[in-house]
Amino acid sequence: MAKYEMLIGGEWVAPVSGNYIESINPYNQEPWAQIPRAGLEDVEAAVRAAYEAYTSGPWSNMTPTQRGALLRRLGDLIAENVEELAKIETRDNGKLYAEMSAQVRYMPEWFYYFGGLADKLEGMVHPTDKADMFNYSRYEPYGVVAAITAWNSPLLLAAYKLAPALAAGNTVVLKPSEHASCSSLQFARLVEQAGFPPGVINVITGYGSEIGDDLTGHPLVSKISFTGSEATGRRIHEIAGWDFKSTTLELGGKSPNIVFADADLDQAANGVIAGILAASGQTCVAGSRLLVDEAVYDEFLERVLAIAKGAKLGDPMSPETNVGPVATREQYDKVNGYLETALSEGAECILGGPSDGPPEPGQGLFIRPTIFTNVSNDMRIAREEIFGPVLAVIRFRDEEEAIRIANDTRYGLAAGIWSRDIRRCMELPAKLQAGTVWVNTYRVVSYMTPFGGYKASGSGKENGMEAIKQYLQLKSVWLST
Ligand code: NAD
Repeated sequence: MAKYEMLIGGEWVAPVSGNYIESINPYNQEPWAQIPRAGLEDVEAAVRAAYEAYTSGPWSNMTPTQRGALLRRLGDLIAENVEELAKIETRDNGKLYAEMSAQVRYMPEWFYYFGGLADKLEGMVHPTDKADMFNYSRYEPYGVVAAITAWNSPLLLAAYKLAPALAAGNTVVLKPSEHASCSSLQFARLVEQAGFPPGVINVITGYGSEIGDDLTGHPLVSKISFTGSEATGRRIHEIAGWDFKSTTLELGGKSPNIVFADADLDQAANGVIAGILAASGQTCVAGSRLLVDEAVYDEFLERVLAIAKGAKLGDPMSPETNVGPVATREQYDKVNGYLETALSEGAECILGGPSDGPPEPGQGLFIRPTIFTNVSNDMRIAREEIFGPVLAVIRFRDEEEAIRIANDTRYGLAAGIWSRDIRRCMELPAKLQAGTVWVNTYRVVSYMTPFGGYKASGSGKENGMEAIKQYLQLKSVWLST
């Protein structure tokens, strides 16, 4: 069984306690690797190493151009190791190898894009009303960034954070999820190979419930960038609030996919299914509420059902598979709990439904694609993030009602609109309370365009020019003669 070590201050280290966590493959529930179970001392060592690298190591004297070159080198190394990294991710979280390899293949772009931005962070000279005085502003890094990621796309989420944080000149302590840490530890080997000075990127692993507060509350951590659940986001926000630390929080969602009668229904049906079945519904932007115009309700549902019925469950490594297992036993039980709740609330299950019994040892943690109709927006399956292949279908009468239902949620991560009416496609994005709106497409992201939630889906932006500003503070300098 593979046994990983952590990268702290340029050294490969075992946890001080000597304890490890078994990483379980959700396709067969077998442990396949061991990851360090870090404790307080390990957090302390990682943060100190990052702080030293920020304040006195070679990183602190590098020019932005040199930093950019290191980032681009790391991008090249990722590109050379796509297969290995993606296989590890699939083993850890059960997501399809096809999807994980596409993500990892795309990942170098973050390091190229932000590497290119490193030497373009221009300050400004400001006009003033004071005679004989001069004022300019300059961007400065925060110092040590704690980057904490979820298990569903460990490496891509790490790229969202590390590339802009490093381009801005910060140093980083990365803590991936205890459920899927191996790819981040493997990635750390590339960090070493790329030639980053010791301590610039540190990777520690362990239970968030044990070391999360120690990391985010550490006085030498100045910025926290987090992707994960709303509950953990709230905890981090609370802790950060005590020291007024800057945070970027990417949390959950309950995103509406709105299909109007004038949409290309085949295109919309494919988009809706991809939006909910990709990654077995375990994506923050899952289009988990399907809002359908009553004028095409039956016709559209038929198309959705036909595609969903054809989805093949199976080995996530196989190119034939459309839906893999969910990532953890906890997730499996949680999703099944929601399926029972939906039935007891009066929703009608037209596909899938609760699993027949707990999975036998050695079996995959499979949840069948499930579609509920007769859903009203006040039911729990329409209000809470399920994080599984579960679609709640709600019908609407007109545009106004569609917008009202779409916005009637605590979340605001994303929304989809399917329509051929150009007026609607132009007007509706402004009316939807969501950080990303997709029109006649769904789930597209890019390193070049901002991404982040409204309302309880978080704060701050990742990707694009906005992202680098999350890792910079602006200093105003006055000069007098
Ligand atoms: P989680 O909140 O349980 O864990 C996320 C990370 O936080 C893990 O690394 C965990 O170890 C760590 N953690 C736990 N307690 C902590 C604490 N007190 N302090 C600091 N860190 C702590 O979330 P999860 O189950 O891993 O991920 C699923 C959630 O992530 C879903 O809600 C999903 O919507 C969200 N997500 C959001 C985005 C986005 O970009 N908005 C992307 C992917 C996933």
